[in-house]
Amino acid sequence: MSHPESSPYRIHVRDIARAPGAHKTVHESFSAPERLGTSLIGVPAGADVELDMSLESLSEGVWVTGTVTAEAVGECGRCLDEVRVDEPVQVQGLFAYPDASADDGEESDAQDVFEFDGETVDLEGAVRDAVVTSLPFTPLCRPDCPGLCGECGARLADDPGHAHETIDPRWSHLKSLLDEKES
Ligand SMILES: [Zn+2]
Ligand SMILES: [Zn+2]
Repeated sequence: MSHPESSPYRIHVRDIARAPGAHKTVHESFSAPERLGTSLIGVPAGADVELDMSLESLSEGVWVTGTVTAEAVGECGRCLDEVRVDEPVQVQGLFAYPDASADDGEESDAQDVFEFDGETVDLEGAVRDAVVTSLPFTPLCRPDCPGLCGECGARLADDPGHAHETIDPRWSHLKSLLDEKES
């Protein structure tokens, strides 16, 4: 069993829950307990995570909006250089009371609705989803990264004029004859 009550993503809302109109802001910074992201790019476990959230009490739950800021590290999909992304990412979601009626036709953004006990909201799922969807599917060090030379693996960005002497296949037979003659 994990110890969710000690998760830094959990925010106590007992002070505003069940009081529609009540509101508070939360600023938290902590080390990521677990990696956030994909296998190609992500926020490593232990990296700094900053949450700037605004929580608003509604009749059906607590509406949370804000940003998460953390540095994701990955590898360029073309040249394998390190790629770092640290843009703030938007997070939002409705933490609905278990007794809030879900059948009144107001399910506008079903994917942003989380259930909670009325005491603490656990932002981990919302933060994880927001970070994963904000990260590039194929990280690139720059949009026009030329990648690596297919022949020798050199970084083409360092050497734009990079080229290899190639022999026209029509002459290769003749060259092998000449090589034979020389030896
Ligand atoms: Zn690159
Ligand atoms: Zn090369």
